[in-house]
Amino acid sequence: MKPIADYSENQLTALLSQLKTQYKEAQAQKLKLNMARGKPAATQLNLSNGLLEKMENYTLADGTDARNYGILEGIPECRELFGRLLDVPPGQIIIGGNSSLNMMFDVISFLCLFGTGGSKPWLYHKYCNTPVKFLCPVPGYDRHFTICEELGIEMIPIPLGEDGPDMALVKKLVLEDKSVKGIWCVPLHSNPQGVCYSEEVVEQLASMETASKDFRIFWDNAYGIHHISEEVPLKNIIKECEKHGNPNRIYYFFSTSKISFPGAGVALVASSTENTTELKKHMSAQTIGHDKLNQLRHVQFFKTPENILHHMEKLAGDLKPKFDMVADKLEKDLAGSGLASWSNPKGGYFVSLDTLPGCARRTIELAENAGVTLTKAGAAYPYGKDPKDSNIRIAPTYPAIDELKKAMDIFIICVKIAGIEKILENKTK
Ligand code: PMP
Repeated sequence: MKPIADYSENQLTALLSQLKTQYKEAQAQKLKLNMARGKPAATQLNLSNGLLEKMENYTLADGTDARNYGILEGIPECRELFGRLLDVPPGQIIIGGNSSLNMMFDVISFLCLFGTGGSKPWLYHKYCNTPVKFLCPVPGYDRHFTICEELGIEMIPIPLGEDGPDMALVKKLVLEDKSVKGIWCVPLHSNPQGVCYSEEVVEQLASMETASKDFRIFWDNAYGIHHISEEVPLKNIIKECEKHGNPNRIYYFFSTSKISFPGAGVALVASSTENTTELKKHMSAQTIGHDKLNQLRHVQFFKTPENILHHMEKLAGDLKPKFDMVADKLEKDLAGSGLASWSNPKGGYFVSLDTLPGCARRTIELAENAGVTLTKAGAAYPYGKDPKDSNIRIAPTYPAIDELKKAMDIFIICVKIAGIEKILENKTK
C-alpha cells in the first residue's frame, strides 16, 4: 500500500468507500472468529495427551506415596526437573498449583499482609495514604495490572523498548521514591510485543540501587522457553541478584500452562532461600500441599529438561505457520501505508499492533461488528487506559489457520477504515 499521506482527500474518500464495501461483504459472512486470548489450539494440546494416560506409578523416589497429603514445596523430582530446565537450585523452588498467576497474586498478597524480612506490610502504606507503587512496562499483561488494582497498588507505566523497560526511568524512580516497591517483568517474548530483555537490562535490574529495602522484581517468565523463529538467551536473574548482593529482590514465576495444559499444568515460584522460607511459612497456613499427582504426572511424561525443550520445538512447529501468516499479511497489506506499526516476535503468544493515535478502540469495534473478537482496547495498559488509544493485541494461536486468515483479512480492513476515517476527520477539523 502506498503511504496514506500521498493520497488526496478525494482519493481517501474513494478508498474509504471501497473498504466499506469490503467490510459489508465481510459482515454478510456472519463469521465468529476470535483473536482475543492467548490460548493454545487443540492441535497443541494434543501433543501433551500422554499426560492423560494412566500413571506409571504413584510412589516417589524417596518412597513417599504421592496420593497422600504433604510436601508443601512440591515433590523433589518435579523441583529437580524444573530446576535443571531453568538453571535454578531445586531447593529454591516451590511448586504450586496449576497457575503461576495465582502464585503471583498470593506472593503479593503475602507482602501486603505480612511485609517481608521484618518490613512493614504493604497494606500499612495504603492506609497511611502512601500506597505502594509498581512500575509497569507497557504495553504489558492485563492480568498483572488487575492484581495491582485489586490490591490497591498504584501503577506507573514505563515504556517498554526493544530490549526491555526504559532503564533510565526505572532507575530514577526506584531511587527517588521509596513507595516504588515492585516492577512487573515478562523478560522473554513479552505479552503482547514479544520483547526479550537484554543482558544489560537484567544486570541493571539486579544491581540498581533502590530507595526501598523491600523493592521486589516480579519476574514472570511465562514464555521462557517458547521460542518460535529464534532461540533467544536470557541472563539468569536469580544468579545476577545474588552476585550484586540483592538475593531477596527477585520472585521468579514459571508454569507449564503453555507447555502442557493451561489450567491443568504445574506452576512454580523461585527465589532466595530466605524468601522461599518466608513464603512456605505463609503457604503452610493456606494448604497442606498442592497436587502432587499432577506434579508426578508431569515428571513421568517429560522425564528430562531436554524432552521439555524438544516438546517446545514441536509446539513451535505448529505455531510458526500462524505467526508467519500474520506477519506476511500485515507486511503485504499495511507496510509503508503509515496506518500501523507492529511487532515481529521471535516467540511467545502474541503480536502487538499500533494503529494511528485514536484508532484502536474504533478498529476493535469495527472488527467485533464483523464477527472478529479482539482483546479489549487499552487492556495492555494499567487501569485499561491506553493514552494514545493505539495498541491492539493480536492472539494468533487459538484459531485454525484458515480461520485466522479470514480474521486477519477483516482485521486489516478495519485498521484501514479506522485510520482513514481519522485522517479525514483531522483534515476537516
Ligand atoms: N503470565 C503471562 C505473561 C501470561 O501471558 C499468562 C497467560 N496468558 C500467564 C502469566 C498465566 O499463567 P498461568 O496459566 O500459569 O496462571
